[in-house]
Amino acid sequence: MESNLKIYLVSSTDSPEFTRLKWSFTRSTIIALDAEWKPQRSSSSSFPTVTLLQVACRHGQATEDDVSDVFLIDLTSIHLPSVWELLNDMFVSPDVLKLGFRFKQDLVYLSSTFTQHGCEGGFQEVKQYLDITSIYNHQQHKRFGRKAPKDIKSLAAICKEMLDISLSKELQCSDWSHRPLTEEQKLYAATDAHCLLQLFDVFKAHLVEGITSLDPGEINVGLKEILTGSDYTSKFVTLKLCKAADVIRSMSENGQNIANGVVSRKTTLNTMPMDESLLKIVRKYGERILLKESDLLPKKLKKKTRRRVPSSTVNTNKQLVCSAEWQGPPPWDPSLGGDGCPKFLLDVMVEGLAKHLRCVGIDAAIPHLKKPDSRELLDQALKENRVLLTRDTKLLRHQDMAKHQIYRVKSLLKNEQLLEVIETFQLKITGDQLMSRCTKCNGKFIQKPLSIEEAIEAAKGFQRIPNCLFNKNIEFWQCMNCHQLYWEGTQYHNAVQKFMEVCKLSE
Ligand SMILES: [Zn+2]
Repeated sequence: MESNLKIYLVSSTDSPEFTRLKWSFTRSTIIALDAEWKPQRSSSSSFPTVTLLQVACRHGQATEDDVSDVFLIDLTSIHLPSVWELLNDMFVSPDVLKLGFRFKQDLVYLSSTFTQHGCEGGFQEVKQYLDITSIYNHQQHKRFGRKAPKDIKSLAAICKEMLDISLSKELQCSDWSHRPLTEEQKLYAATDAHCLLQLFDVFKAHLVEGITSLDPGEINVGLKEILTGSDYTSKFVTLKLCKAADVIRSMSENGQNIANGVVSRKTTLNTMPMDESLLKIVRKYGERILLKESDLLPKKLKKKTRRRVPSSTVNTNKQLVCSAEWQGPPPWDPSLGGDGCPKFLLDVMVEGLAKHLRCVGIDAAIPHLKKPDSRELLDQALKENRVLLTRDTKLLRHQDMAKHQIYRVKSLLKNEQLLEVIETFQLKITGDQLMSRCTKCNGKFIQKPLSIEEAIEAAKGFQRIPNCLFNKNIEFWQCMNCHQLYWEGTQYHNAVQKFMEVCKLSE
């Protein structure tokens, strides 16, 4: 197998490497993960800080040639709140198989590192995860009837055995916080993640074989987690089982399809579904890493709190929650001279939520400036009478300055975030508000729908309307601000219907 490895060092969100990373996430169905940190003294009471996250992306369908991008995300220089959502979306995406080697520990450290930089909650889960250790042991068991060995083989040992690649122990223990990274370090880091893809290739054929020879009834064993997972169901239009959150999710996805004239989808992470054989593997072997609160406490600290000060930890937690709780009234409240229309400003950590809010007709702006500091964000919120939505705990320090103007979103997933905001601010959403706002720019639609003739005229020179729509009697809407055209499709119709049921709206 030809290895065609491209390595990108991603050290800022302004870079072409970051653009490539975002692109790569939407094209990949398999992503291998690894992280490096500076080794620390065992007496330390905190988790090590992760300084490098390696992400190896396999593009498109499996081919003979191995076309992969490996990204080395430099966590010492990139603005962590700006990449949090993208990474979290990838971790929980039902369309992307995640490969790792005992990645749970990496995730704990990663979570702690992001939490220290204002991304409260860090990361909580990785879905559709496969551990190379599990596959390896499974394979050994099948081929030689060996039981899983007590000592876990190192990745280096597995690589040597299966791929005949040597991973350098010396580099593994090098100082990963030192910058710039040496060329050797970069290559080592990239290989460490990329070899997981290669190992998976070796195992893949056997894994598929194993599944097809099984009794079909067994396929679901151990899979309840994934199959009942909400994201999974929405993807396959088993709408009957959908929860409110799923409906919102599918609706906004359809919204984006409409927005972009069916072709390109532009959210942070709109991925392509896996092919059938990959899906089978994921269904049978897929795991889920879910971090509990206790996972996020370093061992030393855990002991301490258990023995001596259990009550004080509870108190601090409570205080944190309280200060983050919403205390109204919001700036648009008539009692404060507002017009009663909810308005939000969403910072980079909850940018994806903006589209969801727009889908249900809520005014959801993003910052005017590309990289605003806290002051500039607050200024815009104050000036435009908006509540600033964020997950950045650092912004809450400005709470006193801007009372009733900041709200910290607690949910991690966008559809849950939407429900949270609707409930917290008691937003009233009526049926005709759905799809009344441009998901691209937050502009309002023109009042009256356009006919096909009017739409063709309006679209001239800037947007293509698919021919298949010409004979249908459908309505078009246009954004007053950016002039984007939207049209009604069956999927959109169903989504709206479902959403109305969920929100108990009547037509
Ligand atoms: Zn627009």
